Amino acid sequence: METLNPSKPSNTAIEVEDDDGYVEYVPVKKRRAMEVQKILHRKGLKSSNPTSVDPTTSSDPTADLSSDPDHPKLPESKPSLLIKASQLKRDLPEITPTEQLVQQEIEMIEHLSDRKTLMSVRELAKGITYTEPLATGWKPPSAIRHMSPKEADTVRRQWHILVEGDDVPPPIKNFKDMRLPEPILKKLKEKGIVQPTPIQVQGLPVILSGRDMIGIAFTGSGKTLVFVLPLIMVALQEEVMMPIMPGEGPFGLVVCPSRELARQTYEVVEQFLVPLKENGYPELRPLLCIGGVDMRSQLEVVKKGVHIVVATPGRLKDLLAKKKMSLDNCRYLTLDEADRLVDLGFEDDIREVFDHFKAQRQTLLFSATMPKKIQNFARSALVKPVTVNVGRAGAANLDVIQEVEYVKQEAKIVYLLECLQKTPPPVLIFCENKADVDDIHEYLLLKGVEAVAIHGGKDQEEREYAISSFKAGKKDVLVATDVASKGLDFPDIQHVINYDMPAEIENYVHRIGRTGRCGKTGIATTFINKNQSETTLLDLKHLLQEAKQRIPPVLGELNDPMEDVDAITNASGVKGCAYCGGLGHRIRDCPKLEHQKSLAIAGSRRDYFGSGGYRGEI
Ligand code: AMP
Repeated sequence: METLNPSKPSNTAIEVEDDDGYVEYVPVKKRRAMEVQKILHRKGLKSSNPTSVDPTTSSDPTADLSSDPDHPKLPESKPSLLIKASQLKRDLPEITPTEQLVQQEIEMIEHLSDRKTLMSVRELAKGITYTEPLATGWKPPSAIRHMSPKEADTVRRQWHILVEGDDVPPPIKNFKDMRLPEPILKKLKEKGIVQPTPIQVQGLPVILSGRDMIGIAFTGSGKTLVFVLPLIMVALQEEVMMPIMPGEGPFGLVVCPSRELARQTYEVVEQFLVPLKENGYPELRPLLCIGGVDMRSQLEVVKKGVHIVVATPGRLKDLLAKKKMSLDNCRYLTLDEADRLVDLGFEDDIREVFDHFKAQRQTLLFSATMPKKIQNFARSALVKPVTVNVGRAGAANLDVIQEVEYVKQEAKIVYLLECLQKTPPPVLIFCENKADVDDIHEYLLLKGVEAVAIHGGKDQEEREYAISSFKAGKKDVLVATDVASKGLDFPDIQHVINYDMPAEIENYVHRIGRTGRCGKTGIATTFINKNQSETTLLDLKHLLQEAKQRIPPVLGELNDPMEDVDAITNASGVKGCAYCGGLGHRIRDCPKLEHQKSLAIAGSRRDYFGSGGYRGEI
């Protein structure tokens, strides 16, 4: 028998062991590779295919097998999504934090924008879209018609008017060239209105030509006349062509967010209708369609046939739904204070009103502030609109001297008396909540001040008495929640006192807009203290800076994150918040947006009325 020779190679040993039936141990790794090899052969693939997987980016444990002679190479596998994503990222151009911020804001605004269209169901169902504005018979004198675009631009620049849109009608610098009926011109003169204001210079020709318009003008700029005068012209024209029959009408409609504003607009309309009738023009009947008033008296007017309706959304919707009134002949619609209408949750009511239109109408949208959301809301309702802007949307009136004082909470009511001495009456005092209005009112009456008060908790009669006695000069001070600040015109207010700083800067702009109207200078004093949020105070600081006002040290010392990003324009191409227009913050920190979100969560608009002074309009 052969003996084992230790110097012999091991294969001999294996053979010997083979003879013993011994099977050599093959490591798992090697066996796996052999399996793969077998499969590849079966599939007719070559094991030498290079894999395209980048071993540096791949976490695949087989990726490095290619370099191992013991291991066959795997077939080309598709790169994983993770790899693709990282490759894409590598190929993308670097974006700066600023670009990233603007991009985020665009996405936020897109997300916020209301995708529901502002069209009637009939139009939507039949796929009716209007592409051309409604023609009116109105034309300006030939000298103005032939004004070159360059000349028109020069006039606009002189009057600080910004316009956007196609074929914008030329501006007109005097009322006479607007071809208004003689009694209207006379009435304007009687009211001391001789020279048109900037919004009138551009807005009136735009609307008289039949164009849809978005008007952005600070409160007190004379915007009411911009939609009231053409409204009267439309009603006159329609009445002459086809006199209204009992139960018919209206030809024109104005929708306002509050009863007070509706009443005020209605009174302006009435003022011009009276002299027209006296001078032999056809009689035009207006209707004030607001809640809190007996509906029967309103129905009486409708029965006779009504030409012009000034309404709040709730009562209007009610009348239309009950078929007491129709919009079959209505061809002129104005949404005044459109931002308020949307903020107060009237969007759906307005949509319902739109459902009642049977034909194309001229649509006008007015507001002192015009956040992106409203522009989106309006886009579907307007045909080839012209935007006329006579001041940054949300900017304060430059004719107001704005003073900001730090007053401790407990010292406010006493300091208020001292503050009232700054100017002669009339003075407006604003506070955020109803309880403060009542407390201040009581305190002032005790101190012998002739004061009246208004807030949403008071009944219609009390509200009307307060406004009319204050307007007539019988009372010196009006204490109010924001309900009175929206678009109301109290002539010659000397001083607006903000007993507290409203959380939303837009409300501040509305409040102080009650003074300094039509070129006169007014004063606004605002009490601030620790109760205000930093965002609100920063908005105020930037607004004061913009209006070149004195910045009190307490605001100057605030840590201001916007100083770094101040130059960055937001998604709408302006500085500050793309949602509310505040200059002290970006949209992600917007207090108004926060408020709207919590309202949406609460799912009720009544909450807002409860805290802000507004009430349901029916
Ligand atoms: P409004 O911005 O429409 O609320 O108007 C504010 C106030 O300005 C009202 O009392 C108007 O009578 C007055 N007003 C409007 N247009 C003019 C004008 N062109 N000149 C002087 N006052 C005007």
